[in-house]
Amino acid sequence: MTVLEVKQLQKSFGTIHAVQDISFSVEAGEVFTIIGPNGAGKTTTLEMIEGLVTPDNGEIHFGALNWDKHATSIKMKIGVQPQSSAMFDLLTPEENLDLFATFYENARSTEEMLKLINLTDHRHNQVKKLSGGQRQRLAIGLAMISDPEIIFLDEPTTGLDPQARRNIWDIILELKKLGKTTILTTHYMEEAEKLSDRVCIVDQGRIVTLDTPGALIEKLTKEREVRLSFLDGETAAEEGELFSNNLDSVSRTKRDGASLTLWTTKPEDTLYDLFKFTKEKEYQVEQVSIREMSLEDVFIAFTGKEWRD
Ligand code: ATP
Repeated sequence: MTVLEVKQLQKSFGTIHAVQDISFSVEAGEVFTIIGPNGAGKTTTLEMIEGLVTPDNGEIHFGALNWDKHATSIKMKIGVQPQSSAMFDLLTPEENLDLFATFYENARSTEEMLKLINLTDHRHNQVKKLSGGQRQRLAIGLAMISDPEIIFLDEPTTGLDPQARRNIWDIILELKKLGKTTILTTHYMEEAEKLSDRVCIVDQGRIVTLDTPGALIEKLTKEREVRLSFLDGETAAEEGELFSNNLDSVSRTKRDGASLTLWTTKPEDTLYDLFKFTKEKEYQVEQVSIREMSLEDVFIAFTGKEWRD
């Protein structure tokens, strides 16, 4: 079931075309991620969908509801992670949740939210004393207190250390188990790859590509990157490169000193042939690794640009 559909969204700020043409739909229960570099238009897109910014053009439908006619009903359906500044620093997480709960008729219990965001142990600490990750978790709890169907999280892990980011990932996965739909923005490819059912890559206000992480990577290439380093030094790697270039499965190679990188559509066959070659030549291989392509490779392939976190 489609819970959100946006069509040809556009927004400019003066001469800056923040969002030029964005269309997609989101299905119930999925984690839908909008990813893109700084200034790509992610926040503006989200804020238009959340009803905070008015689009210059385009349509936004939550099922049969739209902002013009059904703003109150939409507000009951969606949860928006508040900016840090919207929290009360001198109050505790428990007090913030209690307060936000009073804004809604059918709010979830504070107890339940504290458990979901793993802040039960910090329930009585003032918000200003919480870490960045704890504050972000509280922001998610505040967005969830009204028990919305759809939750919007705008870069919830930016600036957090790896452990704090993983804690947020756990909450997002928990929301999925609860059957919620999550719309997420991020700069981090790894995060998009790990969490999302579908990923929408945006750059300069337009969708570069949109699909499941697996399909995006598959679409790009079935290649794998194989790396070998030779104990016998540069000459061995050079000969290995010449040999690899004659294999049908190998599309290209790169050599750096005694290490050789090659891209192949049949990693097993390529490695079999390469090991036969090294055995015949009595070369010793120190290390072998095979790398799958990542979403980052997809971005680079589609835009021709390096990814900038
Ligand atoms: P980031 O990852 O840095 O948050 P983003 O992908 O969320 O970036 P937006 O915040 O949507 O991108 O910004 C897109 C472009 O629009 C940027 O060039 C930004 O400077 C500009 N912009 C956004 N909001 C405004 C505003 N209120 N007034 C003027 N320009 C704006």
